[in-house]
Amino acid sequence: MTKLTPVRKEILSVIEHAEVPVNVSSIMDSLVSVPNISTVYRALDYFEQNQYIHSISLSGMRFYYGSSHGGHGHFLFCRECRELIKFDDCIVHSLQKKLQKQYQYLISSHVLFFEGLCGDCRKLKDKKSNSIFKV
Ligand SMILES: [Zn+2]
Ligand SMILES: [Zn+2]
Repeated sequence: MTKLTPVRKEILSVIEHAEVPVNVSSIMDSLVSVPNISTVYRALDYFEQNQYIHSISLSGMRFYYGSSHGGHGHFLFCRECRELIKFDDCIVHSLQKKLQKQYQYLISSHVLFFEGLCGDCRKLKDKKSNSIFKV
């Protein structure tokens, strides 16, 4: 591992210890030091290029997650309130086995993202559409 500045170390540790992928504003909120936002973006680019972390865009928002846990994880993303939650139920192991056989791949890990509406946002949506129908 190359030498990282204290700020970069802190940013990396926030991402690697987060339960779910984090976006830039939640990274900023979790930092004790108060770096310039461009410093944070530069650090994120650097980490991604050097494969410390990975990123994914969900509904136009970029989320970062660490690779220290082998990059294994399963997440639900609500496109309305933009909350990400993690679930531990690993449903794809049999699919993974099948893919390995079919494509002769040695699969080391997987990350899954499901995008949709959470329970609360669904209720809100239902209310809204009901009131439209009542008018
Ligand atoms: Zn929601
Ligand atoms: Zn899994």
